[in-house]
This record gives sequence, C-alpha cells and structure tokens, in this order.
Amino acid sequence: MTERNAPIPATPTASGRRCPICGKPAAPRHQPFCSARCADIDLGRWLKGNYRVETEEAPPDADDRDAG
Ligand SMILES: [Zn+2]
Repeated sequence: MTERNAPIPATPTASGRRCPICGKPAAPRHQPFCSARCADIDLGRWLKGNYRVETEEAPPDADDRDAG
C-alpha cells in the first residue's frame, strides 16, 4: 500500500476566500462574505431571484375566458 499525501500549496493570503459581493477578504465570522452587510445583500438577491422565477411564467390559458 502506498500513502498519498497531497502537498498543500502555501496560500498567499490569510484567507483563500473572498467576498463575492465586494471582493474583500472574507471574514471568518461572515464567511464567505466580508461582513454581515454583504451577506444580507447576497440574501436579498437570492430571494428576489427566487420570486422572479414564479412570476416570470405567464398563465397558459387566460386570454379567452369569460366567467360565466
Ligand atoms: Zn463584502
């Protein structure tokens, strides 16, 4: 049997992750964001995107219909 030891490359920065919102180095407390503010922004975008999916589709049969 052979032991496989993957050599870990030295990381240039303290944290390998960066805030996807502003690009700043992510904070360990708000990973993967740099601050609670950025985390909130991302959450808002995510929610909006979710809602859009449902409203984007139009009713298939709601043109010639009279309640009668
Ligand atoms: Zn940020």
